[in-house]
Amino acid sequence: MIAYTFPSKSAGDSFHDKLLAEIAAEDGRKRRKKSWPDRSAEALAKFLADPSKEIPSLWSEIKPVFTRLQHGKCAFCERPLGADEVSAYEQDMEHFRPKKGLTPWPPKQPLGSLPHPSDIPTSLHSGQGYRHLPFHELNYIVACKTCNSRCKANYFPIAGTKHDFTSKDPVPLLTKEKPYLVYPLGGLDDDPESIITFIGYRADVPKSAKGHKRDRARVIIHFFLLNDPTRSDQLFFGRATQLDLLRGKILDFEKSPAAQRQSAWDQVILECSSVNPFAGCVRSMVRLYRSDPDAAHALLKEASEYRRSMLGAANIKEISSTPPLRRR
Ligand SMILES: [Zn+2]
Repeated sequence: MIAYTFPSKSAGDSFHDKLLAEIAAEDGRKRRKKSWPDRSAEALAKFLADPSKEIPSLWSEIKPVFTRLQHGKCAFCERPLGADEVSAYEQDMEHFRPKKGLTPWPPKQPLGSLPHPSDIPTSLHSGQGYRHLPFHELNYIVACKTCNSRCKANYFPIAGTKHDFTSKDPVPLLTKEKPYLVYPLGGLDDDPESIITFIGYRADVPKSAKGHKRDRARVIIHFFLLNDPTRSDQLFFGRATQLDLLRGKILDFEKSPAAQRQSAWDQVILECSSVNPFAGCVRSMVRLYRSDPDAAHALLKEASEYRRSMLGAANIKEISSTPPLRRR
């Protein structure tokens, strides 16, 4: 996980202002007669008057704002889903706090193949959900279907004693409820990279994370199956691929003559871009490389071998294995 925010040159002072400006621009692009905030306020009033009725999914209309902000990646696992509008079906507009019901976490049966750690923090409350927040723009995030439908569902574990279903503003709840999950948009919550790190292609708890931060890391890794073998093709292979690309850039950097050292290092840093899939994993590796290059090389080699073992399992005999002639 990494944090996402709008470029500092975009309109508005706060992240919320900038988000509302982007939503207004999206209304303009789609030539909507009535603004999204006005229509969502009307829909919220109708829902609160009769919560048994179906809620109109107006949030889908502003999904492109969040997709662009997150560079087309899932907020929780950082898988690439696509930022073009045609890829909208790949992504779910996720309510960070469940809108219509809350279920105790963890579920009795683990969602992945690993059992619940015996000392994993629990959050056993249930309830009606956050009825004032179905249309609050700071309660949205774009996630992949595995993270949203399978892992997130109606769970929202907190360390606090009580979920506040009456709140009309999700921001103060970040302090009040002490959620285990991190909201990574706009710098409103802890920086996800201070909570989740990576050892090679596996997610881990940073040594610096203590107390609630450490609990958050452990819950998030288990909650989204970030190290679960059931997601090895989605996550291990994807992270190992990015690390293998990074390894090539690092080897080029190490071979570069003094005059090209800066430009070769710039290529390494480019791999850390928030646009890149699994940037949190890549950045963890670059930080390690700066402090302990030998340890970084051992993990890069392991990632490379893992990736090659996955690639080697496929049938690629249609391409000749004889090297082509040298390019003149
Ligand atoms: Zn995901």
